[in-house]
Amino acid sequence: MTDGPSYGFDTLQIHAGARPDPATGARQTPIYQTTAYVFRDAEHAAALFNLQEVGYIYSRLTNPTVAVLQERIATLEGGVGAVCCSSGHAAQIMALFPLMSPGKNIVASTRLYGGTVTQFSQTIKRFGWSATFVDFDDLDAVKAAIDDDTRAVFCESIANPGGYITDLPAIAAVADAAGIPLIVDNTSATPYLCRPIEHGATLVVHSTTKYLTGNGTVTGGCIVDSGKFDWSASDKFPSLSQPEPAYHGLKFHETFGPLAFTFHGIAIGLRDLGMTMNPQAAHYTLMGIETLSLRMERHVENAVKVAKWLEADDRVEYVTYAGLESSPYYDRVKTICPRGAGGLFTFAVKGGYDACVKLVNALEIFSHVANLGDTRSLIIHSASTTHRQLTPEQQRAAGAAPEVVRVSIGIEDADDLIADLDRALAAAAK
Ligand SMILES: *Cc1c(COP(=O)(O)O)cnc(C)c1O
Repeated sequence: MTDGPSYGFDTLQIHAGARPDPATGARQTPIYQTTAYVFRDAEHAAALFNLQEVGYIYSRLTNPTVAVLQERIATLEGGVGAVCCSSGHAAQIMALFPLMSPGKNIVASTRLYGGTVTQFSQTIKRFGWSATFVDFDDLDAVKAAIDDDTRAVFCESIANPGGYITDLPAIAAVADAAGIPLIVDNTSATPYLCRPIEHGATLVVHSTTKYLTGNGTVTGGCIVDSGKFDWSASDKFPSLSQPEPAYHGLKFHETFGPLAFTFHGIAIGLRDLGMTMNPQAAHYTLMGIETLSLRMERHVENAVKVAKWLEADDRVEYVTYAGLESSPYYDRVKTICPRGAGGLFTFAVKGGYDACVKLVNALEIFSHVANLGDTRSLIIHSASTTHRQLTPEQQRAAGAAPEVVRVSIGIEDADDLIADLDRALAAAAK
């Protein structure tokens, strides 16, 4: 199909990027399980290697199944291009790689997926990069944290683990004024609930492991480029604006314009870092995306029911769901993610750490796993698992205090989820 901008989300989630296979007419996107592609002749090969012609060389860089997924996610996010890679964490490194060099930093929200806090506070130091964490509800603190060496601002749209909503237009304005890109991790919201590019994001990253695939089968990641950032406006982004020594002096921004970041991600990022998504994973994720809107609607509907029930229960201290009227983020839902606040939130159990452990052990439908965005309901006690590497202050700042559990509400019958929680809360109170 032609990806006309007039098509609705439900149509695009099934059709964008895909067309019947030109060789066989296969209606479903085939899994192109191949490592290499035959060149037409030596000239064709040379043109491909020089990036003068776009085509398939080797599946570390590009693969037709993965390419369909890239186009589909880029379309759903309203970006100009996307690069898929092996996991959400790979996507974060791939997003930062063209922007950073030793001595440069990013300014990141304190409210992030626990693994991201660890990646940014510990692992990226090995590259000579660093991160400054600030409360993104405090715009002055965000401004103050940006210095001459800052190369990006990073946050989640619906932020882990509490399901808080970030004021994306306000943060985008701060990044804009500083002449640096805003990177938004849109994993927990998905483009069905939130389209960060419309709120000013430069790049959107995803763990496709979560809602996009939707059933807990494969890991994957994606970086979507808005195509809107002027990489040549300052000397801050030489990998994109200056001659690239690893590509015979090619200037990515001058040559590829709005697609500079996407081409760099494939030609340098995937070529040299090798964090490639395999075609099987792309297939599972394409299957998942076909029903994204239907699942997200049910995730939201169930999350509202469960959160309301928990909030009214006196064994529960508080519930952080932004879809509750009591949430300080309730008003932001209407502008940032008008179709709902997602399926992720935390609640505090009276009885603290021990009660949380008992609750998690007593649940039957909810699985105790380090994952989110599955069709099935999931729960985790963050303080003893995903956020274990963090200091108690970092845990509290991240919304993962010891008395708190995080739930990812699935698409089962809401009444069954409530009954399961009711029984487990009784066990936790014993
Ligand atoms: C899971 C997750 C990640 C990391 O993704 P992986 O696919 O597990 O590497 C990053 N950000 C968010 C919000 C996540 O939920």
